[in-house]
Amino acid sequence: MSNIPVCHIIGGGLSGVACAYFLKKHYPDFHSVIYEAKEYIGGRSCSQYDDEWNMHINNAAHMVLSSDRFMKNFVHEEEWSDKVLFFDMDTLGSNIALNDNTDVICQKICNTSYDDIAAKVKSRILKIFKSNFKHLKFYAFNRDLTQRVINVLASYADEIHCSCRLTKIMSRKGHAHTLCFGRRSVKLRPCDRVIFALDNTAAAPLLKIPLLEYNNSVSISYYTSQTIFLPHGASFVGVKGGVADWISISPNIISAQICNYENNFTTLDKLALYVWGEISRIRGVNSAFMPSYRLEVNRHTSVKMDNVNNSLRPDNAKTIYDNIFMCGDWTMKNYPCTLETAALSGERAVRTMLKFIK
Ligand SMILES: Cc1cc2nc3c(=O)[nH]c(=O)nc-3n(C[C@H](O)[C@H](O)[C@H](O)COP(=O)(O)OP(=O)(O)OC[C@H]3O[C@@H](n4cnc5c(N)ncnc54)[C@H](O)[C@@H]3O)c2cc1C
Repeated sequence: MSNIPVCHIIGGGLSGVACAYFLKKHYPDFHSVIYEAKEYIGGRSCSQYDDEWNMHINNAAHMVLSSDRFMKNFVHEEEWSDKVLFFDMDTLGSNIALNDNTDVICQKICNTSYDDIAAKVKSRILKIFKSNFKHLKFYAFNRDLTQRVINVLASYADEIHCSCRLTKIMSRKGHAHTLCFGRRSVKLRPCDRVIFALDNTAAAPLLKIPLLEYNNSVSISYYTSQTIFLPHGASFVGVKGGVADWISISPNIISAQICNYENNFTTLDKLALYVWGEISRIRGVNSAFMPSYRLEVNRHTSVKMDNVNNSLRPDNAKTIYDNIFMCGDWTMKNYPCTLETAALSGERAVRTMLKFIK
């Protein structure tokens, strides 16, 4: 082991496990070690086992565009549903045309209202829409995210240490020499490198970079003992003028996503009840009873996409330390914070790191 360079990857979300994957692909001689603060890997795109429901529940229903090359190539086509429907709560009308609903799609991609998206981010998304609209599809991932995506990428790492939170970097003249995980520390040799794959909240104080603001969201999963169908055989619905922004179905679960939730219900139970009513209206049925549900408030869903926050985002993988590089969805300036950008940022960090190896 003494001659083998080690790449220490801090953070086991999608960008971190993608680093391990790209490192094995581009430089298999590196020994990669992932350190994750939580007891499990996956970060914001994980799934958790629910004992009572006896199944895995995704942190949120994740969606991607067919132009997201990494995600599309990585996950088999049959694991995605592409039957999207757009439903207007005011008129109770629906349609399936993507090009009539680019504002709704932008809202989902950026987790905020269309008006709050920075012009540069908006123009990047609209460019994708314009350039290949004919072939563009919008997909919902309807399987277990940890098992199908995170664990597959993580299998390229040589070691994974969970419950290991990086607390401090010890450095000299812009060169990090020790990583501290509470009372445990790891000494860095000249041949070793570090990639930070953290959310901005965790990375900012450690790397002395601006702290960005985040948008929140709420995800609700309702358990359905029978298979539930959405109108026109859709697998997911983009909602206009409702409280819920997205409704999607997977076996035994119907989930709702509320982008950038603004606390306008006195309790979260009331929110869940109201959204169940909306789902029933979309389905054109009476909401006879409320099923068992799980509700998750995600306070750090994605970095705010407004001009101020976008301008503070980095647009390369370098840090103030010559042996530390960084990735994470927020590090891709002018891009929305998505699965695709998290994975691409991991690839960029690995490539940048390799460029600096003498
Ligand atoms: C509710 C919700 C809905 C979403 N919907 C979509 C969608 O439909 N489509 C889409 O493409 N994307 C969606 N996203 C965004 C997508 O999940 C993220 O862009 C992606 O998962 C980010 O990955 P990441 O690795 O950059 O960050 P993270 O997943 O945040 O990973 C960072 C990791 O670092 C760990 N960590 C933090 N501090 C430390 C420390 N000090 N030491 C060690 N480890 C540490 C964290 O525990 C975490 O595991 C959604 C996200 C949420 C929350």
